[in-house]
Amino acid sequence: MPKVYVKTYGCQMNERDSEQVSQMFEERGYTVTRDESDADVILINTCSVRDQAEQKALGKMGMIKRRGDPLLITGFMGCMAQSRGEELIKKSGVDLVVGTQKYHRVVDHVDTIIRTREEREMDDLRRAIVDVDEEEASQNTIRDHQLTEKQATAFVSIMQGCNMKCTFCIVPYTRGSERGRPIPEIVEECRRLADRGVREVTLLGQIVNLYGRHEFPKVAGKSPFVQLLEALHEVEGIDRIRFTSPHPVGYKDDLIEAFTYLPKLASHVHFPMQSGSDRILKAMHRPYKAAKFEDLVAKIRSARPDMAITTDIIVGFPGEAEAEYQETREVVERVGFDNAFVFRYSKRRATPAAEMEDALQVPERVKEERNQDLLALVNQIALPRYDAHVGKQVEILCEGYSKRNRNRLMGRTSQNRIVVFEGDFHRHTGQLFHVQIEESQHFTLYGNAQVLA
Ligand code: SF4
Repeated sequence: MPKVYVKTYGCQMNERDSEQVSQMFEERGYTVTRDESDADVILINTCSVRDQAEQKALGKMGMIKRRGDPLLITGFMGCMAQSRGEELIKKSGVDLVVGTQKYHRVVDHVDTIIRTREEREMDDLRRAIVDVDEEEASQNTIRDHQLTEKQATAFVSIMQGCNMKCTFCIVPYTRGSERGRPIPEIVEECRRLADRGVREVTLLGQIVNLYGRHEFPKVAGKSPFVQLLEALHEVEGIDRIRFTSPHPVGYKDDLIEAFTYLPKLASHVHFPMQSGSDRILKAMHRPYKAAKFEDLVAKIRSARPDMAITTDIIVGFPGEAEAEYQETREVVERVGFDNAFVFRYSKRRATPAAEMEDALQVPERVKEERNQDLLALVNQIALPRYDAHVGKQVEILCEGYSKRNRNRLMGRTSQNRIVVFEGDFHRHTGQLFHVQIEESQHFTLYGNAQVLA
C-alpha cells in the first residue's frame, strides 16, 4: 500500500487533526511514514493564523513539487486550504485541497486519485479534488489516537469553530461556527485513552470554555463545559485535566468554582488578554475591559492560589497609540503573568482589522520595539518565579525523553513548567512523582538524577 507523509504547521488543534487523518490512513491499510522522501502521498496541514505560517506551507510544497515526481500525490488540508480553496490548485499544482470540516474524507479522496490514475483516465490525471464545504457533525470525527510508546498525555478535541469574530482573527472564517461534541463521546474517548496508559488530557477548542453553549443546556446552573469537566474528573486513570484556549468571557463563576473542588484540574490557565487598553480591546471586538480581566485573574488566583497564568498579547494592533501600549504594559506588570506569547499584529486577509485604513497601521519598527519591550518585562516577572524553585521539590508527570537531549527525561508540573532530569524511560514515563530542583534556566527547571518516590 502507498506510504503517506503528513506535515503539520500551526496549533495543537492542527496536530490533533493530523493525528486523526494519519490514524484513518493506517486503518485503511496505508503506511504512515516519517520520511518525506519515501512517501507516495504528501499532505500538508496548514495554519492561517499568521502570514508566516501560510508562507512556510506554500514554500514547503514548492520544494516538494520542484522534485518533479509525476506520480507523487500532494495536497493541502486545514485552515489555508479552507480559506484559499481552488486557488491552491492553480498556485501550487496540488492534487487535493481539503477544508477543516472534511478531514475524515481525506483518505477517500486519496483513494479516488489513486484509482483514477490506475485506470489511466488521462483527462482525470489532471483533475484535482477540492473539498471545502461545511459538514454537519464533522466535529465528532476527530476522536481516534495514534499513541507512542508509554505516551502519558493526549490532546482531545471537544469542539470546532468560534463565533466570537475578534477582528484580527481568521479562525471564524476557516473553522466555521462553534460546534461541540456530546459529553458522553468525549468521556468515552478519555476512558479509552486512560486504558492505554494516558494520564493527562488537554481539552482543545478555539474557545474551549464556552464549549457546548449553543447545543447543550445548563444543569443546576453549571455550563456544559463545567459539566464536561465534572464528568471527566470521574474517569479512572486520568490524573490531570488541562484545556486550551479559553476566552476571558467564558470564565464564569461556575468554572472558577470548579478549580476549588476538582483537584485533577491542573493549576495552569492560559488566559488570552490580547491588550490592556479598553479602546483597543473594543476595536479587537473583545467583549471585556482590562479591569474585568484583572478581576477575573484575582478570582482565579483566589480559587487556586498556586495557579500559573499565561497569556497572549498582540502589540501594534491598527491604531494602537504609545499610551495604549503603555496601558498593556501596566496590566502585564500588575497581573504578573507566568509567561506570555507576544505577537506583532499582522494583517490576515478577509478579517475586519485587515480592512482598517492604512493610516492606522503601526510601523513594523514600532511593533518590534513593543514586542521586545514586553517580552523583556514578562521575563523580568516570570523568570524569578522559576528560579524560586531551586532547592525545592516539585511534582511532575513524566512525559518521556527531553526533546533537546535524549539522555534525559522531561515532565511538567501542574503549573505546566517543564522539568528536565536524568531517569529511566521505562520506569518513569507516565508516572507522577517529585523531583528535586537544582537549576533554573530560561523557563526550564532541571532536577538532579535522584528521583524521589
Ligand atoms: S475567540 Fe479566539 S478563535 Fe475566536 S475569533 Fe477570537 S481569537 Fe479567534
